[in-house]
Amino acid sequence: MRTKIVAGNWKMNNDKKGTAALIGALQQNGNSTARVIIAPAFTHLAQSVALTADTFLEVAAQNMHQETSGAFTGEIAAPMLQSIGVRTVILGHSERRTYFNETDAALAEKVKTALDYDMEIIYCFGEVLEDRKANRHFEVVKEQLATALFSCSAQQWSKIILAYEPVWAIGTGETASPEQAQEMHAFIRQLIAEQYSATLAEEVSILYGGSVKPANAADLFQQTDVDGGLIGGAALKAEDFLAIAKAL
Ligand code: PEP
Repeated sequence: MRTKIVAGNWKMNNDKKGTAALIGALQQNGNSTARVIIAPAFTHLAQSVALTADTFLEVAAQNMHQETSGAFTGEIAAPMLQSIGVRTVILGHSERRTYFNETDAALAEKVKTALDYDMEIIYCFGEVLEDRKANRHFEVVKEQLATALFSCSAQQWSKIILAYEPVWAIGTGETASPEQAQEMHAFIRQLIAEQYSATLAEEVSILYGGSVKPANAADLFQQTDVDGGLIGGAALKAEDFLAIAKAL
C-alpha cells in the first residue's frame, strides 16, 4: 500500500515568529492519518523539528547541496540536516531549476548523496508550458526521471517520493485538470514498472503539485494514481493546508 502524503513547501516565507505561529495553528486545528510534511526555511528547521516532535507534523528541508562539506559558501549539506533531525529533503523544485540553474545531472548527484545519508527525497519534476503545448510533456518527464532517478536501486526507491509539478501550474493559479494529472501519474507509474517492476511502481507515492487549493484538492486526490500533493501558496495558511490534507 502506498502512503498518502501532503507536503507544504513554505519557500522563502515566515520568520522565526511566523514559523512558530503557523506550526502552532496547524497543531491546534489538525490531525491526519496521512503523512503531513512541512518544509520551512533552513534557518527555522531546528526550531520546527523541536516544535513538531511527537505531533502529526514532519519536517523537510527545501534543498541541500550534493557535497557533504567544504568550500561551498551559503550551502547546506545532508549531514547538517541530519544532525538537527531533518530526514526528508525536497530536491529538484522548478524554482531551483529555473533560478539556480539546477540541472538533472546535478540533481542526480544530490539524489545520490541524500540516499547515501539515508535521507528521504521528495523529487520534483515536470514540464514547462512550451513542452506541454508541443506535446513533449511525456518525453520531458521521462528524461528528467531517467537522468536523476533510474540509476537508483529498487531498494533505494523506498526513500523516494515523486512530485509531478507541471511548471506552468506552479504559483500561477492554473491547475492541471484531474484528468491531466491522472494521465501523467499513470504514465510515470508505467515508466517505473518498465524500469523496475509493477510491484515497485505500485508502492511509489506520486504527489501532484501546482496551485492545489482546498477547492480543487479532492478532485485531484481522487485520481487513482495521485497519492497526495506538494503545496506551495496554500501551505502558508493553516486553514487551507489542513483542508487540503483532509481532502486526501
Ligand atoms: C510548489 O511550489 O511546489 C507549488 C506547488 O506551488 P503552488 O501550490 O503555489 O502552485
